[in-house]
Amino acid sequence: MTGSPLSGPVPGSENVVPPAGCPLTPMPMTALPLPVPRDLDRPPLDVLAVFAHPDDAELICGGALAAGVDAGQQVGILDLTRGETGSRGTPEIRAREAMDAAEILGVEGRWTSGLPDGALEDSPEARIHLARHLRILRPGLVVTHWRTSRHPDHRAASTLVDSASFMAGLKNLPVEDAPPYRPRTVARATLFRDDAPAPDVIVDVGSVLDRRTAAVAAFRSQFEGAPAAGEVRGGGPERPLEEQVRHHLAREGSRIGVAWGEPYVTEHPLAIPHLGALDVPTY
Ligand SMILES: [Zn+2]
Repeated sequence: MTGSPLSGPVPGSENVVPPAGCPLTPMPMTALPLPVPRDLDRPPLDVLAVFAHPDDAELICGGALAAGVDAGQQVGILDLTRGETGSRGTPEIRAREAMDAAEILGVEGRWTSGLPDGALEDSPEARIHLARHLRILRPGLVVTHWRTSRHPDHRAASTLVDSASFMAGLKNLPVEDAPPYRPRTVARATLFRDDAPAPDVIVDVGSVLDRRTAAVAAFRSQFEGAPAAGEVRGGGPERPLEEQVRHHLAREGSRIGVAWGEPYVTEHPLAIPHLGALDVPTY
């Protein structure tokens, strides 16, 4: 499908997606032969945010991504779809906004996998497709959606990430141009999800709050004048989206005694070398 509207990096992404050494190649043996950046020489990523639509990563975990960048981590974003069925904006406008937001956060790269918006599934074909991205980008940690959502794509993305992360490590997976690789950790971002369990980890995002806010605001076609968006339920027309988001960040931050926080669930125990390394503000 090289040359199709779903091919290649998103328009305007040349300054963020590494342009050299990553020729696009079709994926073999699958019903979704969509290209991905072919760049096995690049350093592995420490953190990869894999979310359904452009803007989900910024809205749900943008603070932790920016904080990771500031800590010297290699951070990337993979949008599973281009958001082509969204009610606002166009895929081209959203792609430009997505690259602006990525630059504000300072991430290493942003890619789009080109899976179908509105029809995202944890299907065998999609697992192989995402597994190939994971083999090439080699993230140590993948962060994605919580398991429940009103948006079916978000629910599908959550299980698809599980499936693809496991399958990426299988030796005989029909992905012949990248060696087996499996992320060590899958974490779920639970900001805005009142039905999620109490977080296992909260990231203090106070030092990056302004960049987080600016990255969300970069999606003007999606959020300008909107009191609610994505996972963010509205508080009525008199409360702007930014204020609604800050309300949630303040609530999560207060759990650990800081102004602004983002919550994450790991669903597995946290490994630490000794009890003294446990930073939990009990009182
Ligand atoms: Zn979304």
